[in-house]
Amino acid sequence: MIRTHTCGELTEKDIGKSVKLCGWIDTVRAHGKITFIDLRDRYGKTQCVVFVKNKSAFEAMNSLTKESSIMIEGKVGQRPKGTENKDIPTGLVEVAIDKVEVMNKCPPLPFELGDKNVNEEVSLKYRYIDLRREDLQRNIRIRHDIIKAMRDYMDKEGFLEIETPLLAKSTPEGARDYIVPSRVQPGKFYALPQSPQIFKQLLMVGGFDKYFQIARCMRDEDLRADRQPEFTQLDAEMSFVEEADVHIVVEGVLKHALKEVMNIEIKTPFPKITYEESMKKYNSDKPDFRKDKNNADEFAFVWVIDFPVFELNDEKKLTYAHNPFAMPKDIKMLDGDQKQLLGMKAKTYDLVLNGTELLSGSIRNHNPEVQKKVFKLLGLSEKEIEDKFGFMMGALGYGAPVHGGFAIGLDRLITIIAKANSIRDVLAFPKNREGKDLMLDAPSEISERQLKEANISIIQEKKKETRSGKQGGRPAGGLQKKKK
Ligand code: ASP
Repeated sequence: MIRTHTCGELTEKDIGKSVKLCGWIDTVRAHGKITFIDLRDRYGKTQCVVFVKNKSAFEAMNSLTKESSIMIEGKVGQRPKGTENKDIPTGLVEVAIDKVEVMNKCPPLPFELGDKNVNEEVSLKYRYIDLRREDLQRNIRIRHDIIKAMRDYMDKEGFLEIETPLLAKSTPEGARDYIVPSRVQPGKFYALPQSPQIFKQLLMVGGFDKYFQIARCMRDEDLRADRQPEFTQLDAEMSFVEEADVHIVVEGVLKHALKEVMNIEIKTPFPKITYEESMKKYNSDKPDFRKDKNNADEFAFVWVIDFPVFELNDEKKLTYAHNPFAMPKDIKMLDGDQKQLLGMKAKTYDLVLNGTELLSGSIRNHNPEVQKKVFKLLGLSEKEIEDKFGFMMGALGYGAPVHGGFAIGLDRLITIIAKANSIRDVLAFPKNREGKDLMLDAPSEISERQLKEANISIIQEKKKETRSGKQGGRPAGGLQKKKK
């Protein structure tokens, strides 16, 4: 490495050492014959000083702009009495600069780093500059630490991390798919996964009884403040389990990660409330237990369990209330009338943190006959069931074990525990509220040649029709779904 130390490292014990530091110019303060700069990297800031007698370095430093990247060589000295900064670890020392090498001079910035009033469109366009902000550096670090702690925990518990394809087929999460045209098979498309749901169930059929993945998921949904078109889950699945076994893993991984990274102690097991009770008492399936005096913790987790299997959609037709692959609690009721069907509960659970849905999961339907009945009640024809889920039903028939799992939304979790202002502040390269990446200018048009290769032609009129609000198409898997 070019540097001998980071900008967060030097203390009194380094006094007298010759060092090389690399970083960005945080501030420049010229005081006549002496100029101070704070050099910054992701580890901290170090005060550096250059004297007029060192002509070339002095001139170089005084011509430099904020956020230029430089390397300095010099000697560590004690700061004069009264000029120490006790608030930072490097605050008792400074580096007297002998030599400066400029890596890149920075032009005037499009916005002031850390300025709270910056227009988000501008800061997202120049995300690579904004990422130098202290709070973003901290959030991204927390994100790394949380994910690492979760990985370690899952590994220790015997889970295998297994990657599943991104080029896949519709999954049943109920949003619209992002689709990818196949060049070699004209007219055919892959769908990007809304989650690894189907694959993880197939992994259970394949004998991997404890799976997890830090999974990227893509859903073409109407965006909200806490939603991004792509997001990350801690996705897991287990065989030979009941609800309580899954809950123990979730509570364990969260307890471990929060303690390890943030030194936050959370109380487990988490309280449980049925969906019915929650709706009755809080008029919501995402109750905020911080408001409850008995649970007045800063981080109020609560399990919401036993969602109905079915509910009615706007057209008064049966739709699934939670996850169409969840196992009903009492399968005999599938033969009942509509009233009975609507009264059915599934082996499902959400985990809510401070009023935000953080996790969803269920014990799955491992019986293909029962699954088929559910699909039929959801209005799918034999042919649709075969086309969309034939392989899945087939797989269940080949000795599928009892299984269940969960997925934790990591972006939301990290936003809450890092106390970030928005979900965009815990992602290195977020999209804006309209799903655009302003830095890349994506989505964007592609060349005629690319369109041709993908066998796609753009129909202008249709495009307009979609924009004017014709958004109510049938979502993924051909299943009508009301909410969530
Ligand atoms: N795949 C589900 C989701 O993304 C979670 C699960 O049931 O495991 O919401």
